[in-house]
Amino acid sequence: MYRATTIKHVFVDFIPRDIKEGTLYISREYKTAMHKCCCGCGKEVATPLLPTDWKLYTHGASVSLEPSIGNWNFECKSHYVIRRNQVLWCRQWSKGKINAGRARDLNNKNRYYGKSTDKQALATTTKQPKANNTGSFWIKLLKFFGW
Ligand SMILES: [Zn+2]
Repeated sequence: MYRATTIKHVFVDFIPRDIKEGTLYISREYKTAMHKCCCGCGKEVATPLLPTDWKLYTHGASVSLEPSIGNWNFECKSHYVIRRNQVLWCRQWSKGKINAGRARDLNNKNRYYGKSTDKQALATTTKQPKANNTGSFWIKLLKFFGW
């Protein structure tokens, strides 16, 4: 399979039904972008342009999409970032890391829905880079679980 190293972008009102390889379709109207996986596997990748998802940066003639795109649900498991229309390939995540990421998602959802979580999932939440005051974080967590 051919791994793309560049991608062009096009602003559209609607994402067309048939999208071409090597093109990032951006709909500001629908706050979403779509492209075919840059590894060449042909899978379509939708990246919502929402505060909780991806952010689109425009630099004159080129665009960047942050953060990186991790296609863990695809066979190819490709991982790359689009920066100034360049496709920068990132290291593939190990199964363990993908599972930890999923556990974290699940943990967040469980917390949201008020369900209890297992200790394994809790352990992964502490690896989040933003948890810089770990002390109070743990106290909150313990209080949350009534310990
Ligand atoms: Zn792919």
